[in-house]
Amino acid sequence: MRYNLGVKYPRGQQERNGIMENCIFCKIIAGSIPSTTVYEDKDFKAIMDISPAAKGHIIILPKKHISNIYEMDDDIASKVLIVAKKIAAAIKDELQCPGLNILQNNGEAAGQTVFHYHMHLIPRNQGDKVKVTWEPGSYQDGEAAQIAKALEKRMLN
Ligand code: 5GP
Ligand code: ZN
Repeated sequence: MRYNLGVKYPRGQQERNGIMENCIFCKIIAGSIPSTTVYEDKDFKAIMDISPAAKGHIIILPKKHISNIYEMDDDIASKVLIVAKKIAAAIKDELQCPGLNILQNNGEAAGQTVFHYHMHLIPRNQGDKVKVTWEPGSYQDGEAAQIAKALEKRMLN
């Protein structure tokens, strides 16, 4: 099953050799749109975000086009956090920031605006203007356990 999460590609848009036509991040990876690279290996390119939440905000892009986490294979999934760890340490040492958020949006409803998987690394400082927050919610009696059970069952299949 493919999960598109509301992503609509123009009719006829095609993927060739892992590059999706009309995808801004595929163009950045191919070098046809400029970007400022901070890290690159055979699977990933990490660049400075063009509209940073804070100075030093970096996005990690897998080179092969995938829209979101649901399309990610285990090899890339297992490598992306190793890249994130490496960049996080460099950010911490260089910017001396006491905090760092790692986030990754899947689907329009989650705030995804570019439908090529990417992981955000955002340096954080006390009292900065970055907002990654939610109102704490609650469960009815037994609701959390019920959802957990259903998810657990789904993962066994
Ligand atoms: P999303 O909202 O999809 O999680 O994040 C998309 C991110 O991509 C945003 O933070 C946005 O600033 C960044 N972005 C969009 N277009 C470009 C671009 O052309 N170059 C770079 N470097 N970042 C971009
Ligand atoms: Zn792409």
